[in-house]
This record gives sequence, structure tokens and C-alpha cells, in this order.
Amino acid sequence: MNLPHNPHDPSRTVDRWSGALGLTAVSVCLAVIIVIGVRATLLYEGRVAVRDDAREANLRVALIAARTLSDDISTCSYALSVLGTAGQGDPSAQLSKCLTQFGYPRSMNARSDAQAVLVDEAGEIVYEALPSTTCVNRPMVQRIVDADRRRDSTQLSISTSSALCPESGERGLLMTHGIRRDDGEYAGVGIVTLDVRYFSRQFAGLAPRAQGVVSLLRSDGVVLVRSTAAGATISDDISNAADLATSASSSGTAPVSGADGDFLYVRQPLPSLPMQIEIRAPKSEIYAAWRERALWVAGLTATLGTACLLLAVLLRKQRQRRRAAEAELQRMASTDPLTGLANRRTLDEIYDREWRRSVRERVPLALLFIDVDHFKTFNDRYGHPAGDDALIAVSHAIGHSVRRPGDFAGRYGGEEFMVVLPNTDVRGARDVAERVRTTLRAAAIPHEGTQHGHVTVSIGIAATGATATGTPAALLQAADEALYAAKSGGRDCVYVHATSGGDPCPAI
Ligand code: GH3
Ligand code: MG
Ligand code: MG
Repeated sequence: MNLPHNPHDPSRTVDRWSGALGLTAVSVCLAVIIVIGVRATLLYEGRVAVRDDAREANLRVALIAARTLSDDISTCSYALSVLGTAGQGDPSAQLSKCLTQFGYPRSMNARSDAQAVLVDEAGEIVYEALPSTTCVNRPMVQRIVDADRRRDSTQLSISTSSALCPESGERGLLMTHGIRRDDGEYAGVGIVTLDVRYFSRQFAGLAPRAQGVVSLLRSDGVVLVRSTAAGATISDDISNAADLATSASSSGTAPVSGADGDFLYVRQPLPSLPMQIEIRAPKSEIYAAWRERALWVAGLTATLGTACLLLAVLLRKQRQRRRAAEAELQRMASTDPLTGLANRRTLDEIYDREWRRSVRERVPLALLFIDVDHFKTFNDRYGHPAGDDALIAVSHAIGHSVRRPGDFAGRYGGEEFMVVLPNTDVRGARDVAERVRTTLRAAAIPHEGTQHGHVTVSIGIAATGATATGTPAALLQAADEALYAAKSGGRDCVYVHATSGGDPCPAI
């Protein structure tokens, strides 16, 4: 026995409303996910754009610095290479041209950013572009000659050391080039040193942001000069490298860029010189503004997302509460509060539906009409509350006897009950009815006002044939008439209507 769902129930409207709420919650979640996804993509693209912009800007700065340095230094480099073969070129003219690039002093006391000397194989200075021999650091010159002789190379050499002039007390960038006689014998070395002041001037203001670094690297990657916001310094004791190529083709002219720990860097080779400019910028500074914006956006998005999710949860809870309330309402609207069986309204709907199904499927349909015998007397004798308990006991007896899932029992009104038995013929209906009757008798509820001594029921049965004919009202009428026949037959009995093959009540 069950309480089927009513297809015309008004709760369907609420179901649709609940469905709409569920859809809203899902839509809100989807919208939040989409907004977060779009936001994250935009932030990522913004970060990439910031990185690319920084790289572009640094590459441009590196290119300008490389060109300027190359313009200045390549004159000296060329002068040294021309002097490399003894007897070729005029040292005075070549080295003067070189020094002109670095502010060749007009007076004896002025200082140039560069010095140039030619030294013979014995370490004796044969030409000094800065005419102040007392300033030349002779032990250092001797060391350079010794190193150059050992190096045995005709290529330009880049290194760092104390400045040629000890008075300055600062390190300098050294460019040296060995000199050969026609027969290839070692004849000495040409030396140009560049003062740190030159680099301080060239690199001033180029370092990106507060912690950026501009460096002059040798083509083998060794740092020669390093410039920060605090100023430029020349690295200490960078030795000669014999195999540095001076041609641009070997070191390449294409800039490179990349990331190195907490820094982004770009490197731009100096045209025609074995050196390159490197600009390093700390990621923390590059992304500072972006990070601040990202935190705001992420915070706002998270707040929006949380609010939307909370809303979705609240909507869901409200929907669940609505459903529970509606289910309870539906249960109350369809059941009889005293017995818990279906009420008259539900009975009518179920009967109508089962009638149409039996016609459609060409199966029999049986009805039981059950009435408590002498119930008025019971009430009069035992009182109405006891009468209510008796009705509950009768409903239990009916509930125990009606077992198939499709069977349906309800309180028709007062002390009358009705059972709809789909796909059941008269024989099956009689079995169910007898079960109800005997179950109630077994309960043995005292009723001294009757000849039976306890509460009994009379049951009328009507059933369609294999193919239902007539009307639902006619079948109902037949069941009612059978009930009255059972009453007339002495009560506490089951009577089948004559149109359904009726026979008398069993002897009591
Ligand atoms: P019969 O054997 O011919 O059916 O006699 P009856 O006394 O059972 O029939 P009648 O129609 O004269 O009386 C029915 C009684 O059922 C009257 C009414 O007081 C009682 N009754 C109907 N509904 C309820 C109810 O919900 N609770 C109680 N306690 N009594 C009810
Ligand atoms: Mg009655
Ligand atoms: Mg009665």
C-alpha cells in the first residue's frame, strides 16, 4: 500500500520554484568560476606584459650604452691593433686619437679618463700618451709585459688591474695588445687603461630602478665593470683571456634576455669588441606595481566569489527548507490525521486514476467498502476517544491486510474505509477483505453492545471483469450496495455485489 504522487498537486509550482533556485545557485557558481578564470587570465597577461615592457626598455638602454662604449673604445682597440705590428702606424697619432675619446688633457695637470703607453719587450716605456712618467706604475707595467709575453697572442686582451697611474689609486679596465716585429719576434705591448670615472659617467642613471645593475662583461661572461645607483666599480684582478675574439661575428650581435634567480637580465654585445653590456633588474621591483594591483583584484574577486557562494548556499538551504515544508504540507493535505491513511480527496483521485489505468491496460479493478459495525453504540458506550482508538485499530488491520505495492487504502469518511485494488479480481478482493475482517477480530476490541462482543466490520466488494465496463461511479455504487447487503446479512461479513458474482455472507 502506498500514497502515490498527485500529478495535479499545487506543490509542483513550488518544485518548479525550487528548481529555479537550484539553477540560480548553479549559475552563480558558474559565474563565479568564470569571473575568477577571466580575472586570473587577465592578471597573468598583465604580468607577462610588465615583464616584456621591462625587457624592451632595458634592451633599448643596453643597446644605447653598448653603442656609446663601442664608439669610444673601438678607436683605442683599433689603435692598439694597428700598432700591434712594430713599425706600422705612428704611436703618437694612434694613441692620441684613442685618448681624445676620453677627454685627452689639454694641460699637464689635467686628468684624462684613459691612459696609454707602449712598452718594449724589456719593460721599458717607449711611448707614453700621458706625458707624466712619474705617474706610471712601473712594477705593474712589468707584470703586464710578462703576462703578455706568456700569453703569446695577437688578439686584444681585456683585464682589470690597478690604474697605470698609482696616484689615482683606483682600478682600471686594461686593454692590451702584443706587438710583433716583422719576423714575428715579441717586441712589447701597447696598453690602454680606462678609469672608473669614465664608466661612472657613462652608466650614470642607466641602472633600472633602485636595485638595478648595469654591467660591462667580457665576452666570456666575466664582470669587468659594475654600476648601481651608488656608482660604478671595476672588478678586482680579472686576468687576461687569450682567446677573446674581437670580431662581432664570433661573440654575436644579437641581444639575449632571461631570468636569473630574483633578476631579469638582458645582454647586448658591443659591436666589434669582445665585451657586452648587461642590465639586471630585480623582479621584486619590476612586478611591484603589478603585485599591488593583483592583490587588490584577487581580494575583490575572492570577496565577490565568497559572497556569491554564500548566496548560493543560502539559496540551496532555503530550497531544502521549502521542499521539506512542501512535502509536509502535501502529506497533511492528502492523509487523514486520525488514522494516517489517505483521505477522501486522495482516495477520489487515486480511484479515478486506477480506473483509467485498468481500462487502458485491460485489467480488472476491485473495490472494498469497509464499515465499522454498530459504531454509534460503541461511541455511546465507551466515549469518543475510545471510538477514535478503535478507528485507528481498524486502520491498522486494513494496513496489515493490504500488502501489494499498487493497493491503496483510505478513510472514506466517519467509520467507513475504502480500498482500491488494481489488477485484482473478485477472488483476490475477497481474500483481502477476509484478511481485514479476521485481523480485526483477532485484535478483539471489546464492544459489549453487539452480539459479537467485540468490534467488527462489514465489507462490500465490487470488481470489474477482465475488461472494465460501466463507470467508476457505478462500481462505487455496487460496492456500497454490497456493503449494505453485508450489513443486512448480519454484519461482520464480506459480501460481493451480485454484478461481480455475489454470494451470501459466511455463517458466523
Ligand atoms: P452500522 O453497523 O449500521 O454501520 O451502525 P453504525 O452505528 O456504525 O452506523 P452509524 O452511521 O449509525 O453511526 C456511525 C457513527 O460513527 C456515528 C459517529 O458518531 C461515529 N463516528 C464517525 N466518525 C467518527 C470519528 O472520527 N470518531 C469517533 N469516535 N466516532 C466517529
Ligand atoms: Mg457508516
Ligand atoms: Mg457503521
